[in-house]
Amino acid sequence: MTQFLNTIEFAQELDSKSPLNAYRKKFYIPQNKGKDMVYFTGNSLGLQPKTTKDYIQQELDDWATFGVEGHFLAKNPWMSYHEILTDKTAKIVGALPTEVVMMNQLTVNLHLLMVSFYRPTKQRYKILCEAKAFPSDQYALQSQVKFHGFDINDALIEIAPRDGEYEVRHEDIYKAIEENKESLALIMIGGVNYFSGQVFDMKSIVEAGHKAGAIVGFDLAHGAGNLKLALHDWNVDFAAWCSYKYLNAGPGSVSGAFVHEKHHKNTELPLFAGWWGHDKATRFKMDREFKPIESVERWQLSNAPILSMASYKASLDIFDEVGMDQLIEKSKLLTGYLEFIINEINKQKNNCLEIITPKENRGCQVSIVAHGQGRALYDKLIENGVIPDWREPNVIRCAPVPMYNSFEDIYRFGEILHQLL
Ligand SMILES: *Cc1c(COP(=O)(O)O)cnc(C)c1O
Repeated sequence: MTQFLNTIEFAQELDSKSPLNAYRKKFYIPQNKGKDMVYFTGNSLGLQPKTTKDYIQQELDDWATFGVEGHFLAKNPWMSYHEILTDKTAKIVGALPTEVVMMNQLTVNLHLLMVSFYRPTKQRYKILCEAKAFPSDQYALQSQVKFHGFDINDALIEIAPRDGEYEVRHEDIYKAIEENKESLALIMIGGVNYFSGQVFDMKSIVEAGHKAGAIVGFDLAHGAGNLKLALHDWNVDFAAWCSYKYLNAGPGSVSGAFVHEKHHKNTELPLFAGWWGHDKATRFKMDREFKPIESVERWQLSNAPILSMASYKASLDIFDEVGMDQLIEKSKLLTGYLEFIINEINKQKNNCLEIITPKENRGCQVSIVAHGQGRALYDKLIENGVIPDWREPNVIRCAPVPMYNSFEDIYRFGEILHQLL
């Protein structure tokens, strides 16, 4: 256990000792009055690698040089561009290469996967989800339920923290599964709650869900690139995530999807099909009959968005170099240091800061309730060069991202916050 100190020298020493110290320089850090801002919103939009421009430029050049022939003649032929992302992406989420594909965007992928994996019947039609899930997920789930003619008030089982608590108790999840085991069709939750930063025990939830006869899928918007995932081994049925949060692929960039190998041979699974999901050998015969690829690529609809994928590849190559293990090791130290700094402030400020993210079950996000404070605090943080995320009425979400945030960032955040309180 590291003995932390609330001094700039100590923070800088931790930085100089960190194996990831050199990686900060590979990213553009937003500036305020000529200084690096304390950027704590990598969980919302990850920062830009300095190499991203070159990756995109390569595709622009190949487009200029080859026109349509770039599909075959480009340095990274566009025809199969998505395939060069697969192995490295699979490593990040703990999947087999046949189980992951980059395609579309997150909410689109959630819908496409639910078309196949939410197949309600009169008896089995309920979906277990988080109360106050990210709005897009709520709308996606509600619209799926309505699409199949069910009533959302009856069909959606929303799990919330108990009154006065911020963390969802796993026992409450298992109890709800048990109570609805005759009618439960699907469990669809975030691997990490976007608000509290709580990480769910995905492995056990899959086990409990399967035991009850349900399908289990995860939205990993806040999980991919943040947590050590083992989607294949945990036997997760399906998952989707975006690449612009922890994975630094740029605003609105291409999403990732996972479908467990065990479903690949099931040709009975209904799906919304497109030509990119058709058997590659015969795709251009343009036959009337859809012949599905026997992998997650079956769920692809359209030809790949190359510029967005190039942007993703720039970051992916850095992730591959570093590996999730090193990232997670630094992530734990960063959040540990942040927690220490918050406690130091509390000693002098009447315990006005309450960390609501569970200590044991968290990634790199720490959510803090600032008691007695309001929006003015957030505005002042921004003025002073800190970019946290603010949720009404008084929650500051901080995500010190191990790839580019420093221990000095955390020290400076503490110093600025302390002054403002
Ligand atoms: C960020 C986020 C989204 C965003 O969805 P898009 O389709 O990428 O706009 C959806 N769900 C969760 C849980 C998120 O965190």
